[in-house]
Amino acid sequence: MSTHEHQRIEIALQPKPLPLARYILSPTGHLAQCETLPPLNRHSLVTLADPAALRQPVNYDSDTARDAAAHLLGYAHEFSTWKPLPASISIPLLEADTRTVSTSTWNLMPGLVLTYRTPFEAVLESDIDEWTLTPALATRWARALLTLAAELDHANAVAAHAVLANRGGTRSTDNIRGWLHRMTEDDVTNEDWFFHALRDVLGTEDNIVRDGTLTAALNLANPDEPTSLTDLLLLPAGTITHLDAATVIKRLAIHYGLPLYLWTAENWYLATHIGEPPLTEQEWLRFSRTAELDNFGLMIEQLQRDGTGLDFQLALVQAGLLCRQCDCRITGDIADTFGHCTDCLPPDRDTALAVALERGCPVEPFDEGISSHDGDPGDPCSVCGLPLPQAD
Ligand SMILES: [Zn+2]
Ligand SMILES: [Zn+2]
Repeated sequence: MSTHEHQRIEIALQPKPLPLARYILSPTGHLAQCETLPPLNRHSLVTLADPAALRQPVNYDSDTARDAAAHLLGYAHEFSTWKPLPASISIPLLEADTRTVSTSTWNLMPGLVLTYRTPFEAVLESDIDEWTLTPALATRWARALLTLAAELDHANAVAAHAVLANRGGTRSTDNIRGWLHRMTEDDVTNEDWFFHALRDVLGTEDNIVRDGTLTAALNLANPDEPTSLTDLLLLPAGTITHLDAATVIKRLAIHYGLPLYLWTAENWYLATHIGEPPLTEQEWLRFSRTAELDNFGLMIEQLQRDGTGLDFQLALVQAGLLCRQCDCRITGDIADTFGHCTDCLPPDRDTALAVALERGCPVEPFDEGISSHDGDPGDPCSVCGLPLPQAD
């Protein structure tokens, strides 16, 4: 969600009165009326409960932030309209002036800063002991408090979700999947499209959760890097590009041994065929979400089934999981099996290795002779893992 969209999120709130007066701001964020002001005063005044304790932060929680916002909005409304308070006022959230992964900061006025710190801390810090409550400040303060309350509520929701998942030992989607699975088996209905649609929805849901978790983990490694996580989800639209995501995915793929080919805007086809300017992030998303590109996985799978993809059999032989001679399933390290079953090599270890080396390296095409292997004398062959003989 972009900054622009965030600005458009409106919250309906029941405004509460805050008559013209001097107020004491308590350490819990409550505005307590301490003296009425003569009508000469155009604006209310806000004084810290204990000016001696200047810089002692005022602490909000979600409820006190909303309550204070309701009073501040009521004040601003009455000031500008001189009309009774309506049942509710719609007010847009206020983008934080600074938002990192761990904090959101609103500079309300010089010397007055509202800060949300993950997970549950919300404080108003002040360098001044008294200030004038103009309607503009009241409105800005109220909007910031409402946004802060939303941050706190969101943090609570995330925490509750995590705790429940942890206690239950299961993700929310697992149960639904199980249910879906049983429904399919029972063949209760023939409306296949319904199940397909629902599975797609669940798959998307899973991806969102995974993306969010991954991104949060990445960002937490650099907590003070500025981000524009302007929505109240952990989706960093706008800061992390598809190229960043691709880099992470590639690293994960290498680490976990997942064969992977990624298309990005740096793809050779795009580089040679579209010319300048290169695709922007938005243009890339439009391109990658087309119906045609949606067929990527299907296309690879089809090539594989047609026999025009990778040679899985050869890979299994290279990995020492099938015998190089008879294709039967074998287990154990290549240094022990020499890539063969026990029937296909003589029992003597030295002779066995010599025979295995001489049969050739399972590269494409299968070559014969000891020279077909690749690597330095004494090291394992870089393709098939057989220990190469020491140099004479
Ligand atoms: Zn064999
Ligand atoms: Zn080899």
